[in-house]
Amino acid sequence: MPQPFQNTILSWYSQNKRDLPWRKTTDLYRIMVSEVMLQQTQVDRVIDYYERWLKRFPNAAALAKASNAEVLRYWSGLGYNRRALFLKRAAEELVNKEKESHLPRTIEELQELSGIGPYAARAIAAFSWDAGVTATDTNIRRIFSRYYFKGAGSITSINNKIESETPTHGRVWNNALMDFGSLICTAKNPKCHECQFRKTCSAFEAGKTGRYTRIAPPQSKFEGSKRQYRGAILRILLKKPMTKKTLTAALIKELGDREFIEEVIGDMVGEELIKKEESNYRLT
Ligand code: SF4
Repeated sequence: MPQPFQNTILSWYSQNKRDLPWRKTTDLYRIMVSEVMLQQTQVDRVIDYYERWLKRFPNAAALAKASNAEVLRYWSGLGYNRRALFLKRAAEELVNKEKESHLPRTIEELQELSGIGPYAARAIAAFSWDAGVTATDTNIRRIFSRYYFKGAGSITSINNKIESETPTHGRVWNNALMDFGSLICTAKNPKCHECQFRKTCSAFEAGKTGRYTRIAPPQSKFEGSKRQYRGAILRILLKKPMTKKTLTAALIKELGDREFIEEVIGDMVGEELIKKEESNYRLT
């Protein structure tokens, strides 16, 4: 039976939805591209990249055939370059699965694709198949935490509440929650005066709308991390192949330290993100 919370969110969304390009499709590949781009990147920044990407790589087959260097060029500026290479691998996997007539049909099968974790798999299932799941992220937890738990609540209690509210068709529901969290129940300064939930929101009633116990683990520090080295190596080798000595010098110049260089180069060769040809390292 529809819940009052659910009805209010859906009715708010019908009047306030954002017009975003990935909402005009249910194609699995295109939804996957948008979800990978949206990880760690703001919606406004992703729109241009998404449209440009799909002009060049309109389907999984086109992306699977492209070189890593070209894929990284189209990704350049979005950051976290490994996402682009994982996306290309996932496209290759989709092409192979299509040949075997075994495209993913479940959330578990989506998670078998490179770079697709539990959150992205649920989002893809909701937006592509209209599956009855919630792709729960910090924004969605914040809404439920405020509405039901005065801004606090344990992760289990909040997740249980989200599960119990999730309808059998997830596409509009997830879009509605995402827009509500971005436009009204924002992390800082929520727009409670415009919110239809004012009369029933626990946090509003308790005067604790500014409160939200951050439940998601904090992001690991980027400066000096292996992730920073990996990004720099991809960026440097995208310009031209080079010997380990030149690559090391370029990394030290950029990062001022050599702590992870040997280890990260070895890892990236092992993962086939880069390769050594004669004396030069290059992108695969
Ligand atoms: S009243 Fe304020 S805190 Fe409560 S759901 Fe609305 S915007 Fe969020």
